[in-house]
Amino acid sequence: MGYPVSYHCPHCETVVELERDGYLADKAVTPFPFEGWAYVEPDGDVESADGVVFTCGDEAVTREAGAGCGERFYLSFVKFADGEELDPRRPSEYVELAEGRGPDAPDSPDGPRGPSNSRGGFY
Ligand SMILES: [Zn+2]
Repeated sequence: MGYPVSYHCPHCETVVELERDGYLADKAVTPFPFEGWAYVEPDGDVESADGVVFTCGDEAVTREAGAGCGERFYLSFVKFADGEELDPRRPSEYVELAEGRGPDAPDSPDGPRGPSNSRGGFY
């Protein structure tokens, strides 16, 4: 069985509680999700997720009734890859390579657009 751990909403400081096992290492509570982290709801399979998404003011997690701003925020666990701790604030060097930008095809019509000689009606 787990025990309740409390977190502060980064938007409004409302305290939410999450019951969980103690061996997970918290990394950060942020108003946005980290790239590459998989989040679950507080009643989901927290132990196998990378983090938890809270809805501030949700009755299931908010300690004080009626409190909360309704915004979502994210508890992220420390995540390891190949024995190294991943830091979401350090952009992965693989991301850009994977995305690709496609061939650079400048589409610049520079030809004359029709006859430009003005056949004015005055002499
Ligand atoms: Zn809040």
